[in-house]
Amino acid sequence: MKSNSLLTCIIFVCVFALGSNAQAQTPGVFEVRFNDSALTSQQQTELAPTLAATKSYWETIITGYQPGVNLDGIDIVVEAAAIDGPNGILAQAGPGGFRVTRGGFTFLTDRQFNSSAGVVTIDTADFSTNLILDVLKHEVGHALGFGTLFDLNDLSPDPGEYIGNEGLAAYQIEYDSSATFVPLQNDTLPDGTRVINGHLDENNPLSDAFGRAIGDDLMSPIISNITNANNPSQNFLSDTSLAIMRDLGYETIATTYVVPPPVLGDANLDGFVTFSDIASFIGFLTTGEYLIQADCNEDGDVNFMDIAPFISFLTGN
Ligand SMILES: [Zn+2]
Repeated sequence: MKSNSLLTCIIFVCVFALGSNAQAQTPGVFEVRFNDSALTSQQQTELAPTLAATKSYWETIITGYQPGVNLDGIDIVVEAAAIDGPNGILAQAGPGGFRVTRGGFTFLTDRQFNSSAGVVTIDTADFSTNLILDVLKHEVGHALGFGTLFDLNDLSPDPGEYIGNEGLAAYQIEYDSSATFVPLQNDTLPDGTRVINGHLDENNPLSDAFGRAIGDDLMSPIISNITNANNPSQNFLSDTSLAIMRDLGYETIATTYVVPPPVLGDANLDGFVTFSDIASFIGFLTTGEYLIQADCNEDGDVNFMDIAPFISFLTGN
């Protein structure tokens, strides 16, 4: 199910003079550094856990830069402004600074030419949305270059078509083996405005092996309010989007896939809880051997206390 919350990306490509940054910077390491000094103290307090989680998210996914890129992370100014009232546009973001090329990749950097820079503007009317973490993760994706630095890096020469090597190869594995490009946003708004290449294509119907539609990717234009077993945190980042970050000059983790959570009660490990699990369950019960799928009450032991929840899973009650 989708919310009506539309995330647009109005690209701020502005010459942005960053204030002094007193934090230590470690060369060669990717780091997200937020500057929230433009927010009120109440907004800072409210947003602090979200910023910390967003920083951790991207610093886990991006592990550094590709050879030849001498940067140490990104400085992102977080500000709040009235954009369009509740819902609609929740926030907008883009890179700011001077355009430079390092190791064949174009970034926007600050005056010191040692870090990228960006700005995220949160709509004051949407500051408390329950989707704020996904909103921030999405906007930082733009600040890092997703959709905002495609053209400068010759990754999307035609409307709606992403052709970067890493991104396309990942998309062929994940979604469409015969694809010649990754479909990007290619919309015409009611007023005739063209909105192109800033996101993945929201209307792409393809799903991955886990049933995750690429239209629900974190970097699709409409933020999704979904959950599924493989993606309890909603708005997953596809391996396609991950690979696109490599096309933009970052080193990343190998995959965003998470190991599916164990199916409690599935004692024979076939992926389902059925009567054929009974014999296996009794086996673990009588030997006391531990199997997480047999630990139906999740207390760290497989014993008679697991019988009642096992029967519940088995009967669906
Ligand atoms: Zn966006």
